[in-house]
Amino acid sequence: MKFQYLGTAAAEGIPAIFCECDTCKKARASAKKNIRTRSQAIIDGKLLIDFPADTYYHSLLYGIDLAKVKHCLITHTHSDHLYPKDLCMRRPGFSSLGATEEECFNMYGSSGAMLEVNSVLSKYDLDEKRGYISLNPLEAYCENRVGDYIVIPLEAIHDVRACPYIYIIKDNAGKTVLYAHDTNYFSDKVWEYLEKCDLRFDFVSMDCTNGAVPENGYIGHMNLNDNAAIRERFISMGIADEKTIFCSNHFSHNGVSVLYEEYSVLAKEKGIITSFDGMELEF
Ligand SMILES: [Zn+2]
Ligand SMILES: [Zn+2]
Ligand SMILES: [Zn+2]
Repeated sequence: MKFQYLGTAAAEGIPAIFCECDTCKKARASAKKNIRTRSQAIIDGKLLIDFPADTYYHSLLYGIDLAKVKHCLITHTHSDHLYPKDLCMRRPGFSSLGATEEECFNMYGSSGAMLEVNSVLSKYDLDEKRGYISLNPLEAYCENRVGDYIVIPLEAIHDVRACPYIYIIKDNAGKTVLYAHDTNYFSDKVWEYLEKCDLRFDFVSMDCTNGAVPENGYIGHMNLNDNAAIRERFISMGIADEKTIFCSNHFSHNGVSVLYEEYSVLAKEKGIITSFDGMELEF
């Protein structure tokens, strides 16, 4: 499986769109891995995860032909993960694509997330009945076929108004990913599912909005200590081992030590790698 991070920041990006804090100033000055656009990833060049406003920029930067991508998982409705107005660019006059089954863009997420997309599409007379975009609500803890993958949504601990899911994604060769954005340290129900699921994870991408802050006082996101606790628990449960890649991702300028050069050193000590925009992994 080939996994690529396209965007790795929280809502405001790093540097934040209207900010001159120290972190944002340093990020602007140093650039490279400290420039983080809004959250998105792609698996094997064909399964998108999330659709933020930066999708268009990502497609140009990383050479992704969005007209050929057929499947997109939505984690939740916050704007750094979902910008439905750009989906309206698939309508006649804005796109050469039609409404055939082969050309349809298939979206998946919680029923609340799909309702949010539909409410925007319907304003442009582009709701799912027209065939340009298909909206597929998924049930938590159920296996779903999404293109060439099995996808299992799990409940996130995050703003409930944003209808959040995290996702287990498994390919035909058995390679298995947990994409855990955005969420707090997982709920007991998620841990019970993971205990019984009979899976072994090759890659775990973990919310780290708060960076290396010692105490995570913000419900709905994690810090480095939470990420390290998840890693240890996965290994002790036998659903991960020394080959499993654990990665901190989804950073905010409000977090502590979130600049790549600082955070990646701290994370490495805990057996965790650090995402950056464009990072590619193969496992
Ligand atoms: Zn987010
Ligand atoms: Zn800032
Ligand atoms: Zn969010």
